[in-house]
Amino acid sequence: MKFNPEKCSIPDERMQPFIDPEEIWGLINNTVSTPERVRQLIAKSLDKQRLTMEETAVLINTTDPELVEEIKEGARELKRRIYGNRIVLFAPLYVGNKCMNNCQYCGFRVSNKAQIRTTLTDEGLVNEVEALEDNGQKRLILVYGEHRDYSPEFIAHTVKIVYGVKKGNGEIRRVNINAAPLEIEGFKTVKAAGIGTYQIFQETYSPEAYKWYHLGGKKMDYNYRLTALDRAQEGGIDDVGIGTLLGLYDWRFEVLGLIRHTNHLEACYNVGPHTISFPRIKDASTINIDQKYMVNDEDFAKLVAILRLAVPYTGMILTARENPKLRHEVIQFGISQIDGGTKLEIGAYAEKEGENQNLNREQFAINDDRPLNVIMDELIENEYLPSFCTACYRLGRTGEHFMEFSVPGFIKRFCTPNAMLTLSEYLVDYAPAETAEKGWQLIEKELTNLKSDDVKVNVPEIRNRIERIKKGEHDLYF
Ligand code: SAM
Ligand code: SF4
Repeated sequence: MKFNPEKCSIPDERMQPFIDPEEIWGLINNTVSTPERVRQLIAKSLDKQRLTMEETAVLINTTDPELVEEIKEGARELKRRIYGNRIVLFAPLYVGNKCMNNCQYCGFRVSNKAQIRTTLTDEGLVNEVEALEDNGQKRLILVYGEHRDYSPEFIAHTVKIVYGVKKGNGEIRRVNINAAPLEIEGFKTVKAAGIGTYQIFQETYSPEAYKWYHLGGKKMDYNYRLTALDRAQEGGIDDVGIGTLLGLYDWRFEVLGLIRHTNHLEACYNVGPHTISFPRIKDASTINIDQKYMVNDEDFAKLVAILRLAVPYTGMILTARENPKLRHEVIQFGISQIDGGTKLEIGAYAEKEGENQNLNREQFAINDDRPLNVIMDELIENEYLPSFCTACYRLGRTGEHFMEFSVPGFIKRFCTPNAMLTLSEYLVDYAPAETAEKGWQLIEKELTNLKSDDVKVNVPEIRNRIERIKKGEHDLYF
């Protein structure tokens, strides 16, 4: 049968698997990149239209260095147009590293006897959250191994504890989750605890490769994981995060897998993923991975730019797995969220620097362990506007109602002002004097730009709220 890229061989049905490896390989092997086509696709994306899988494959198959540069420039421009210079900050918080699965790439795998297994007690969790609040964090992602101890009720319990911790002016205003897939009832339980995004990575979209790496436990079931976010949607969670662990299989296949997953969620639930993640494998205790599929820096930057163009409205996350230099470079191709001040060892935020750091207490090694303020300072220095905003989620602007990018002017009227307000809070409460000075200058510059850009933005009201924050008010948002 002749390969037909327009025809998807597996129709989209709720709770049904949707990945067809033949379709994806067919696109990779049969799609031709020409300069005209590439430029036409960049223009389509700059017009804020999503790309199809076939169109994404054209960009993937582009190898001419000048055209790749054009793709990167397109992504830079799209980021500027849609997101402006905002970067949202968060921190991961590891709650427990017990795990019943045997993923070949992960330090938490059950066969890793050297791993010291711990689950934070309620008190330990409070200590961690207080330490994070002391640094100025407002958004966390809680991370768990897959273990019978980490039931939906346990996860919900930990989420509620985190929301309840208030130290000084600190509080956590959005708690996201990265944990094993649940049943619909389980998703309802964690939703009721008030989570923001539920994030699960498929790791690899190739069913064949998935088998190589998942050697034990419930995670061996590819389809159960693939349909996890369908169950999340059915359970009422409409902010979901997808991802792939780069280094397990051919990155070209994984990028198309992410697009296929996005298409599936859009077709079935009328809303795509809230975020896409594309972590690269890092060293871990007892890791057992062939180097064959490792993604080099060049391909990594290219694939980030392609994803940006393919899904203009989806948040894209770049974590501290990457080193500061690469993060700095790749952010410009369309990243909207990064973590800062990250520590992965269980209980490490509340410990003193250097205490007990050890690969046997963490899932994998990170490459950017700079404190939050150093990252804030660098962002400000480079004229990015760091944001701790949680307004949409708290005002019910989630999922289908997440209008951030569909309503013209939304960013200027809401996201940028909210970024300025949350940055102001940070500057007043947590920043060293030198960072604060640079931060206030940046805010002033942003306000001036806003005024000249768009008369609908209420600059006096933003100024008024910033003054209120300077006088000690908190948590003001639009
Ligand atoms: N146990 C849950 C699960 O597997 O979905 C929670 C997630 S795990 C603690 C978080 C993510 O870390 C995994 O989904 C995987 O993509 C990533 N990860 C695992 N080992 C890694 C490594 N060696 N380097 C980078 N990322 C890794
Ligand atoms: Fe367990 Fe998740 Fe690590 Fe797999 S990736 S071993 S499920 S913590």
